[in-house]
Amino acid sequence: MSSPSRRPGVLEAPILHVDLDAFFASVEVLDDPSLAGRPVAVGGAGERGVIASASYEARRYGVRSAMSSALARRLCPSLVLLPGRFERYGEYSRRFHGLVADLTPVYEPLGLDEVFCDLRSLARLGVDPIEAAHGLRRRLHDELRLRCGIGVARNKLFAKLASKAAKPRVESGRLVEGEGVVWVDGATEELWLATLPVRALWGVGPATAAKLERLGLRLVRDLRGVGAATLARSVGPSMAATLVAFAAGEDDREVVTDRPLKSLGHEETFARSLVGRRELATALRAQAGVVARTLRGRDLVARTLTVLVRFDDGAQVSRSQTVGYGLDDEGALLELAEALAGSVELVGAVRLLGLHASGLRARTGEGLQLRLPLEAPAEDPPEDRARARQAERAALRDAIDEVRRRFGRDALATAGELTADGLEVATQRGRHPFGPEGPRTPR
Ligand SMILES: [Mg+2]
Repeated sequence: MSSPSRRPGVLEAPILHVDLDAFFASVEVLDDPSLAGRPVAVGGAGERGVIASASYEARRYGVRSAMSSALARRLCPSLVLLPGRFERYGEYSRRFHGLVADLTPVYEPLGLDEVFCDLRSLARLGVDPIEAAHGLRRRLHDELRLRCGIGVARNKLFAKLASKAAKPRVESGRLVEGEGVVWVDGATEELWLATLPVRALWGVGPATAAKLERLGLRLVRDLRGVGAATLARSVGPSMAATLVAFAAGEDDREVVTDRPLKSLGHEETFARSLVGRRELATALRAQAGVVARTLRGRDLVARTLTVLVRFDDGAQVSRSQTVGYGLDDEGALLELAEALAGSVELVGAVRLLGLHASGLRARTGEGLQLRLPLEAPAEDPPEDRARARQAERAALRDAIDEVRRRFGRDALATAGELTADGLEVATQRGRHPFGPEGPRTPR
């Protein structure tokens, strides 16, 4: 698939697509080892039942997902057809995501058994994307007994095609092992664009494929000579634009994680509950610093900030805001956090305060900082003030980060980090991450 002599760096091939093999059926076999080696499928058993997942033993008989269960049984009379246990698949899926999160927080689940990862935030660590893919595949196998195919490519389009190419396949009734990990180099991109059917493209289902076929378009390369306007008349403007881009090998969709990540949040349960806005503001300032430094340490930016407040009586309120740029500065985070916290009515003493950054993306350098006047007018919305603050502090902040990287965290601080006790640069987990009474939320 690609020459083994050369390996890409993270910036050349930053996107991983991980797709678990025969996921539901595999979980069923794990939970009942007597099924190992037998043709197993998960799906509806009724007249109109459909196959959701089939083991490779079943696929040797021609059983495939989305096929009617009746046909599957005709093809494979010994088929073990099981009803789905989605809670169980969900448990496995969460463990799968946990292993992915150990590699990078920038991942985007697609259903229960697929994720996209963006490894760009690991570039500074010198991570080898192919090695990272093999490592993840090994852990999935060793710790969860699940197998997967992983595609490594410069964009989502090719990564998804590659994970499919990496999987085992059935050829004339025989199971052929896949490579497990496939990197799409330039030559492979060309080859695929020239030979793959349009049906192989993500989002092109049977209906769209039929419409394209009526235009005489069967291969991806056939799309190249056709204008977007012509395509749009058949498949609509949005799909037409996507197809034109795909036919050129282009796909600029980002890997976006919308889940608030624990690792990029800071939560503190206080030994003595906070009373009043001033105590709240002091705690928020420390948390904004922790979250900002964690983001920058991983070369990430966040689009969404969430403030979580829990009162002594257990009542809990959260407020979120999403902004149109990437946040990674403590001043900007604080500006937003204060606005969010300000919208929470303080009905009692605050027992727990949390600040979470989500909508994470790799920090790419562009679109981050706009140079704005030092002091934005007071009537500006918090989002604009936060942006101005981030721009204003960019140079100073990067310098402080660099000094700390080289000489340790206590080497230097900003005035905002000075307290009556001297310099206090909050550590990532906080003094009481899970509350003074001990852990409550095991990871
Ligand atoms: Mg799968």
